[in-house]
Amino acid sequence: MIRLRLLAATALLLLPLPCAAAQELDLLIRGGSVVDGTGSPAKAADVGIAGDRIVLVGSSAGRHAKRVIDATGLVVTPGFIDPHTHTAGDLSDPKRSRNDAYLMQGVTTVVTGNDGDSPRDIGATLDKWKRQGIGTNAALFIGQGTVRGQVMKMSDSKPTAEQMEQMEHLVDTAMQQGAIGISTGLYYAPGSYSTTEEVIELAKIAAARGGIYDTHMRDESSYNIGLQAAVRETIHIGQEAHLPVMISHIKALGVDVWGQSADVIRIIDNARQQGVDITASQYPYTASGTSVTASLVPRWAEADGALQKNIADPAVQARLVSEMTRNLERRGGADSLLMTDSKDKSIVGKTLAQIAKERGESPIDAAIEIIKAGGSGVASFNMKESDIDAFMRQPWVMTCSDGSEGHPRKYGTFPRKFHEYVYTRHVISLEAAVRSSTSLPAQTLRLKERGLLKDGYFADVLVFDPKTFVDQSTYQSPRVLATGVRYLTVNGELAVDQGSLTAKLAGRPLTH
Ligand SMILES: [Zn+2]
Repeated sequence: MIRLRLLAATALLLLPLPCAAAQELDLLIRGGSVVDGTGSPAKAADVGIAGDRIVLVGSSAGRHAKRVIDATGLVVTPGFIDPHTHTAGDLSDPKRSRNDAYLMQGVTTVVTGNDGDSPRDIGATLDKWKRQGIGTNAALFIGQGTVRGQVMKMSDSKPTAEQMEQMEHLVDTAMQQGAIGISTGLYYAPGSYSTTEEVIELAKIAAARGGIYDTHMRDESSYNIGLQAAVRETIHIGQEAHLPVMISHIKALGVDVWGQSADVIRIIDNARQQGVDITASQYPYTASGTSVTASLVPRWAEADGALQKNIADPAVQARLVSEMTRNLERRGGADSLLMTDSKDKSIVGKTLAQIAKERGESPIDAAIEIIKAGGSGVASFNMKESDIDAFMRQPWVMTCSDGSEGHPRKYGTFPRKFHEYVYTRHVISLEAAVRSSTSLPAQTLRLKERGLLKDGYFADVLVFDPKTFVDQSTYQSPRVLATGVRYLTVNGELAVDQGSLTAKLAGRPLTH
């Protein structure tokens, strides 16, 4: 009783004071269906924002706001977090730093520097973004391939003790400058030249600074050690280096491994039961995005930067053609490689089979000619829908775009997941799709106070129309912005207002 009276007295005392004005909201999103990112069911609630923070999730009765958004019929979620992009170049370019392709998908935070490939100078890059302004928040991995290339160029040999020390120093410096962990691209040269032990030593350096390990695995198919052994290698690295591991764009690539999603899921579930902190990301497309060279040419032919010399060398021609033929089979044949991005515009939009037919040569000869002329990006149709569905249903699988030029995923990943896999095919629930795009990546990447609609969290908030939230980018026209994002706040500022991009650059570089 005394306590009650005291409370009442305090309230009376506080009401007329100016500090009550601090309760005024900058923005109130009223009447939407709130999916908070935890995975719990959607509920009717209002979301209030003051400054760069969420200060209310619930009833806004009696609250005043400078601006009220009517979200009736719309879905309100945390802004999406994309753990694997190739946006470092975009963010550093003042003409593209708003990151339009991502804002229009509802993404408020991107991670880049994946696949072992990052800017060399993490500190300078983060600093540049801060000075110039960026449209989304952004975090960086330090790339193991970048580090190895810096110390050993394209050599396929083992590092000397001195080279190892140099690489460790580079990783440590990057971590101190704010990298969130180390990424590898063990499928690609020069990452592919590294032994597991070499990777573990560098991962330990990242672990000591609180970083995580992100990997484009050595094999997603049957190229070298095989998909399942590559998953085991990833788990082993996590156990030995004592850090969380994340498999980038998990998939079963190519006819040889189709259906192996079940085995991979079992291996990962077992590891998780044994206490290994392992997660994965995934994009919802049956085609991956890579290059003619990376998909067909064996890595020995790229060693020491001698690719052009090797593909023209008659002495290795028979071996090269035979291995490229096998790799093309793995990928599903010449019909399954679509040219997406090349200096030679005449080949873009055509499959390798079409090009070979036009030129009257074999697909492998056509591929070699393309590489000699500077190469090409490809969309490589190599995944089975049932494997994609199986991976997507796992509670440890996040959404990632792996956005690259020429592939529709850069502009379409997130709305595609909702339109196709939630609303059309019902593969996963709305709540699971939101969690996999928000709180799961935030926890995995150790991004504090993001990824949930929660009192006190940063106000990265998405309001989308479930009827029109659709990817518009296709393999033929990959650069078309998605539809359906009505409002999007980044750190409390409206980056998308009534469906249109604003001029705001409200993103921040995020460090670990
Ligand atoms: Zn990758």
